[in-house]
Amino acid sequence: MNRESRSPHLSFDSLVEYWLGESDDTAAQRADMHLLACDACGIKLDEVMALAQGVHRSFTDGLVHTFISDAFVARLLERRVRVRQYHVPHNGSVNCSVEPEDDILVGRLEAPLEGVSRVDVAISRSLADGEHWVHDIPFDAVRGEVVIAPKLLALRDLPTHDMHIRLLACDGEGRHEIGHYTFHHHA
Ligand SMILES: [Zn+2]
Repeated sequence: MNRESRSPHLSFDSLVEYWLGESDDTAAQRADMHLLACDACGIKLDEVMALAQGVHRSFTDGLVHTFISDAFVARLLERRVRVRQYHVPHNGSVNCSVEPEDDILVGRLEAPLEGVSRVDVAISRSLADGEHWVHDIPFDAVRGEVVIAPKLLALRDLPTHDMHIRLLACDGEGRHEIGHYTFHHHA
C-alpha cells in the first residue's frame, strides 16, 4: 500500500465502468493509478469480475458489446448504478437511445433457450457490413434471455442507426437461429 497516493477510493459504479471499458481516458488512468496502490479497491474490482463471470465481449465497428447475467444487472441496481434497460421480444425490435444520466445500457433479448447448451451471437450494424461473431456467450435458459450491454461511451458518439443481432444455438449438428433482434438507435 502506497501511503503517498491518497486518491479517493473508486466507487462500485466507477469500477464497473472501468471494467466494462466505459471510463474515458482520464478516469481510466486515475483508476489504473489508484488500483496499483489500493488493495481494498483491487478486491472490489475482483468482486465485479467474479459477478460477471463468463462474460464475453465483441467488437463491432469499435463498439464493444459485453454479454452479462441477470444476477449482475440485479447487483448493479442494488448498488444504485443507473441502468437503462430495454426488453426486446423474441424476433422483435426496440427503439433505444442513451440519456446523459445513464451509467449502463442493457438489452434483454427474449429467446427460447430451453435445452440449449451453447449460444453464439452474430452482430451487424448494417447488413452490407458483415456480421461479427461472439461464441459461447452466457445466457439464462430458465428466464429465457440473453443480456447484452453495449459500451455507452462509444454509443453516445454514434449516429442514428440500426443494429441487428442474431442468436444461434449450437449442438453436435451445427448452428441454427433461435432469434433475431433489431435495435433502432436514436442519437
Ligand atoms: Zn481504493
